[in-house]
Order: sequence, then C-alpha cells, then structure tokens
Amino acid sequence: MKIIKLHDLYFKPFICSTKLKVIVKNLVQQVTDDLPENEVPVFIGILNGCFVFASDFIREFERDCEISFVKLASYQDTTSSKKVKKLIGINQDLTDRTVIILEDIIDTGNTLQEIYNIFKNENIKQLKVATLFFKPSVFKKELHVDYVGKNIEDKFIVGYGLDYNELGRNLPSIYQLTPPPKMKNIVLFGPPGAGKGTQADILKDTYNLKHISTGDVFRYNIKNETELGLLAKKYIDAGDLVPDQVTIDMLKDEVDKNKNVNGFIFDGFPRTESQAEALDAFLAEKGEKISGMIALEVPEDLLVERLLERGKTSGRSDDTDESKIRNRFNEYNTKTAVLKNYYQAQDIYFGINGVGAIEEITQRLLDVIDTL
Ligand code: AMP
Repeated sequence: MKIIKLHDLYFKPFICSTKLKVIVKNLVQQVTDDLPENEVPVFIGILNGCFVFASDFIREFERDCEISFVKLASYQDTTSSKKVKKLIGINQDLTDRTVIILEDIIDTGNTLQEIYNIFKNENIKQLKVATLFFKPSVFKKELHVDYVGKNIEDKFIVGYGLDYNELGRNLPSIYQLTPPPKMKNIVLFGPPGAGKGTQADILKDTYNLKHISTGDVFRYNIKNETELGLLAKKYIDAGDLVPDQVTIDMLKDEVDKNKNVNGFIFDGFPRTESQAEALDAFLAEKGEKISGMIALEVPEDLLVERLLERGKTSGRSDDTDESKIRNRFNEYNTKTAVLKNYYQAQDIYFGINGVGAIEEITQRLLDVIDTL
C-alpha cells in the first residue's frame, strides 16, 4: 500500500481490507449474540458513507434481516439561519421492530443525536446503534452507542465508503490524513553498467540524498564476511538475484540508519515488483513516497563493452565473464523491466538517454529531478 493523494491532501495506509473484514465480522458476531433467535432486525444504513460497510455487514449476518438506507439532509430554515435536519428515505412501518442503525463513523455524535430524535417518534421496539469506527476523544453526547467496530483517534480518514470531498469512497482500505511527503526519493534504474553509480554520486551531493546501492551493500558484507554476506554470495557470484526478503530487510535497515537526509537514491533496488511494493509500503509508514523512477537507457552492446572494461579493475566477480554479464542482462530484462510498468502506472517513470558524456547525462537527470 502506498501514500495516496486526494484533491490537495495526502493519506497514508491505515487499516487494510483484511483487517476491516475481521472488524466487521466481530461486529456482526456481537449484534447476532444479542438478538433473540426469531427476531428479524431492520438494519438502517446512514448514507452515503455506510454503503460499503453495510453491504459487507449484512452479507456476514447469517440470519433473516431487512435493510434500508436513509440520508440525513440539512435544510436551511427559511426563518432563521439555523440548519434543520430531516431524514429522507424511510418508507416502511417500523412499529414494534428492532431497528439497528449502521454507521460508518461516529465522531462528535451530532448525526447520531438527529437519528435518536427522529426515531423516538416511531413506535419501534428498540433502537440500537452499530458503528464501524468511533472517536471516543471527540464524542460529546450522552447517547448510547451499542456496538463499536474499532475505536480510533481523532484523525481524518477515507476509504471503504468514507470520502474527502467525495473522493476515496471506492478505496478497499482505510487511509489516514498525513502531512505532505518531504523527501525526494528516487529510484535510479537501468541495466548493469548504465552508469547509475557514477550519476548517483553526483546527485547525492547536489540534493543531500543518501545513495543506497544494494549491490554495494552486499559486496561490503561479503568482503567483511558477515552473515548477510555469506548468505548473498552464492547468488551474486552466479549473477542471480538475492531472495527478496533478505534484500528488503537489508534495505529497510539502510534507510533507518540515515535520518538526516533529504531523501534517498535507490540504486539496484527495487529489482522485482514485490520489492517495489515493499518499498512503497515501508515509505508510506513514514508518510513518504517514491518521487520518481529515472531509467538510464543504454544499448546492450555498449554495456557489455563498458562492463568488461570495468571488470579489469573493479575486482567484481560478476564483471569479468561475458556469460555472467549476459545473465544479469537477462535478469534485468525478464524480472526487472516489469518495474517500468509499475512506475509508469503511477505516472512517475522517466526514461533518460544514458549515452554521452557524464556531465551531459547528469544535466538530463537534474532537469527531471528538479520537476519532482
Ligand atoms: P549490482 O551492483 O546492482 O549490479 O548488484 C550486484 C548483484 O547484487 C546482483 O546481481 C544481485 O545478485 C545482487 N542484488 C543487488 N540488488 C539486489 C536486489 N534489489 N534484489 C536482489 N538481488 C540484488
């Protein structure tokens, strides 16, 4: 899950759809436990926000029930500036029925107060209230809320039916308002030998970014014979990818070590879609996101030439043998290139011509990064 933008505001993931399912299930269980076997309740959803919750709720409810929806409309009173609320949509006889209100969220309780006022005039048997979310710190009424899915702090949330100026209702998960991202986080992308390391060195100084090359971190660990190094060595020597979980944990560690930077240049990471998703989720927890993926585009034959040349002096085991180099291209083309689609779908993919003098290529990069 990643940070999302609705209108002018940013929201970070808060409660995923799997957790919502559990919350709804528990709520249904509580309501069911309190109802006599032969009682057919009338559930009444308060529109608009409750429509997703109500729909999941009644499909979890295994006994007979009825469902209706109402809407509270505010009218400006013609004789004063006071707003009056009116319920629209109820057209059935509720005499002697058990009515259970389904609310998506109760905060101050003003809406709930209106609902209590309206239903007290109907001759119903009992009125109960089930809410998915409840904000105990702002609830100001003496009213009874019978069932609460989850207590939450007083922060603005969207998704699962709840909106911010009508956007966000269709999101399957709940997101919470977060300050705008502050960092510039760049994924520097390109096949082995494209010049990522060289360019990253220049960019990190220009913008005070931390350059994390997963390949370099692995090599450092191999050289120092750490546990991680020993684990990664056999994959790296063969030109294969190190398993995702090992790489992701290592990357999180590197990010957490660097608190005082304006952002990160990720070089050699992500290399798979699941690494990209893990990175998005990890940054979203911090209220941050990937600003852009910049790919250096260089023809393959030129790359082989560059790498064999580098292999003469770099001491890198995977740079000396053309078949290993070709295997890394193969890895890049089959597994890694899917990332282009991943970032293109978010409209943050930028292809840059990686052939030319170092300074020329740097300038092309700066032109893009300045716009992010
Ligand atoms: P590089 O220096 O980026 O070319 O990386 C050298 C080698 O380190 C790769 O061929 C992989 O074996 C390993 N490696 C680096 N980054 C990753 C990653 N994100 N996921 C898996 N393996 C990686």
